[in-house]
Amino acid sequence: MRVSFDLDEVLFVSPATHKTEPPLPFPFNKIYKERLRLGTPELIRSLQEMGYEVWVYTSSFRTENYIKHLFRCYGVVFDGIVNADRHLKEVQRGHSETLPQKLPNRYRISLHIDDEAIVCSMGRIYGYDVYQLNAEDDQWKEKIIRQAEEIRKRNASI
Ligand SMILES: [Mg+2]
Repeated sequence: MRVSFDLDEVLFVSPATHKTEPPLPFPFNKIYKERLRLGTPELIRSLQEMGYEVWVYTSSFRTENYIKHLFRCYGVVFDGIVNADRHLKEVQRGHSETLPQKLPNRYRISLHIDDEAIVCSMGRIYGYDVYQLNAEDDQWKEKIIRQAEEIRKRNASI
């Protein structure tokens, strides 16, 4: 089963408002200025150990290589990355109407984690499961794992 994470305000947060992972050592901290929400590498690795594929689904234009290399510095390897370029090419192209900024089910993603209310409300219309996360939450890892497990159980019983 696939789980995807938004980047901005979900995995990338400001140390002014959120607990964060320590910055990368020099010179990587000059290349990758984003700060990770505390516990990000641990959560992603736990999900992968539990048999989940973990993807990034972002509306930003950061390149796949940039995202890959940044997270590799934290020992994290994603199973898939969808950025705005890929979404426009694979999801939006060929549609005259503007589709939602994210359609996780097009990538067979069973649970997407995002901070934006619009992405969450579109889930009800377009039929994908989403967990809303933005504020600092010491329990975020446990809550996301619980949500993923519930969906996995539900899907297994269909
Ligand atoms: Mg976001």
